[in-house]
Amino acid sequence: MPLPYDEKGTLLVADLTEKKTQIKPIPRDIHSKYYLGLGYNTWLLNQKTSPDTDPFGAENIVIISPGLLTGTDAPASSRVEVTTKSPLTDLIGTGNSGGHWGLRLKKAGYDALMIKGASKKPVYLSIQDHKIQFIDAESLWGLDTYETTSQLTKRHGPETSIMTIGPAGERLVRFAAPVFDKQHMPGRCHAGGVLGSKKLKAVLVKGTGTIKLHDPDAFNEAVRESEKRIRSYPGWKARAKAGSMGTIGITDTGVDYDEIVGPYLKRGPQGVYCPCMMESLYGCNLLADVKDGPYSGVDVACAGITLYSGTAERYGISLPAAFHFNELCQRLGMDMFGPFFYAYELSQRGILTEKHLGFKLEYGDEKALMKLLRMVAYREGFGDVLAEGSTRAAQIIGGGAERYIPTVKGLEVMQPDARAALKGNIFTVLSVLTNPRGGDDLKGTHGVSNYPGHASWAIKLGISEEEHSKWLLDWLDMPPDYKKIVFGDPQDTANPDELLITIWYNHLTSVYNSLGFCMFASSVADALGPTYQARIYTAATGVQTKADEIMEAGERIFNLMRLYVNRMGVTSKDDHWSETYYTEPSLAGKELAPAFSKEETQRHLNRYYKLRGWDPETGKPLPETLKRLKIVL
Ligand code: SF4
Repeated sequence: MPLPYDEKGTLLVADLTEKKTQIKPIPRDIHSKYYLGLGYNTWLLNQKTSPDTDPFGAENIVIISPGLLTGTDAPASSRVEVTTKSPLTDLIGTGNSGGHWGLRLKKAGYDALMIKGASKKPVYLSIQDHKIQFIDAESLWGLDTYETTSQLTKRHGPETSIMTIGPAGERLVRFAAPVFDKQHMPGRCHAGGVLGSKKLKAVLVKGTGTIKLHDPDAFNEAVRESEKRIRSYPGWKARAKAGSMGTIGITDTGVDYDEIVGPYLKRGPQGVYCPCMMESLYGCNLLADVKDGPYSGVDVACAGITLYSGTAERYGISLPAAFHFNELCQRLGMDMFGPFFYAYELSQRGILTEKHLGFKLEYGDEKALMKLLRMVAYREGFGDVLAEGSTRAAQIIGGGAERYIPTVKGLEVMQPDARAALKGNIFTVLSVLTNPRGGDDLKGTHGVSNYPGHASWAIKLGISEEEHSKWLLDWLDMPPDYKKIVFGDPQDTANPDELLITIWYNHLTSVYNSLGFCMFASSVADALGPTYQARIYTAATGVQTKADEIMEAGERIFNLMRLYVNRMGVTSKDDHWSETYYTEPSLAGKELAPAFSKEETQRHLNRYYKLRGWDPETGKPLPETLKRLKIVL
């Protein structure tokens, strides 16, 4: 079925209580104001849920929407966003995934899927163009995500895409997440347990339609130019071998990740991981290649290799064990950044003991870590407590555990000790603290590796600081007036206005997640800024759009997320680390002091609110901000 972009979008509603589906139009003004993906999902979540919605109740919804450009040839635009009211945070749970699922949903004729109600027995949903069925899933219940995917692929053929939950979702682990096409997980959406509470094991899609573009010639030209720009980014050369875009740029540790990870990687076939022609450039089709030892044959794709090297460092385990850790999280269907590191910290502090767990939890003990994962996913023994997430677990554990809760707004921070990891980077700190969904920088400066100062990839390539600064100022796709405010006059990348950078990336990442661009591909290199996105969008949809309108849409989407969490009770007081982060030494050892004191952080936050047009007390967007952004609830 062709999908003309100049008509209204199509929402497929699947009601699990009634076992009925309905097709609803996506209002045109909503489509153009919020796009699809994150923007549309946030708008719909605002419409359909309230502070009274029980995340595990039948009244909660799960929205799965590919980005507006997902399925087209726009570079790295394969993404799909999953959004729900989070059972972990009671706020917005939203996460982004790759794979072919989004493309296939579009080809089946739908721009978004909303799941509501709850089934009494396990079912899966099969969407094959216009044929939509609720099918008994008793025989799949209990299987892990790899096994479910393989069974459903056998049953329905290889041209299908499968999103499924694992044992963690079935047992309502609060940070469980679904897995798409076996290897992709929107880890921070927390929709796994919500789908489990609805007894929905999987959603498979198969589509045979085509995706119609408004002006194919203009679109192809815009795509060609974007790809050329991406490929001309000099930082690639320093990153190509290890395969992960951020590997060298973000971590200025002097560690040569190429040498560490190279022996354990092999390149997979092109086009299998995502329908994205950029994957060999970004190294997303790198697969784990462990030939011997206890983890030989580990089955996991290695896009974002920093995650694995980070896991290995974090738990003091080998890289093959870190691959296995990730494979287990994927198979069991839960966010790898759950409360696991918190358990280690409590254990190190003597708050969590062998009496709780039944075994010692020590850094470097790979078997203990894998055992812990399984206990949590199956809610066995003390795993039942950790399955509640750090904040709830702390209340059960007591004995001072509350002092060390590693969350912001209830969501575990990705870095084991953020004050050590983020030292000196107020833009990354603020990205974490102000992310509406909570503790990570993925709605902000995540992956921004070019400033301040001299990027490590440039040092590696022998590019001087002055040359790098000139290159960056020329390269950055940012309006000249904004560049002047950010970098001063004359412009200098050594001391940018870090708050304005934070805000810029809050908006840009909101657009990526709504148009369907991949953060792996786009953000690190600042490769696809608003000018390029506006050209591609205009050619695809026929809606004339300029770069500033793209950024305004990003601002609108970010503010709408903030409004949702404000409705759920978040105020400016929640834009902070837990008190202990400011007052007690870190166990990380190297960096004993917090990067910024509470007063300093508050000073930055106050300016951030002012720049944004938010009330500093309530942390809510002011009425004039909502009016300027044309946000109507
Ligand atoms: S850049 Fe990599 S992870 Fe991103 S959409 Fe392309 S293949 Fe997938």
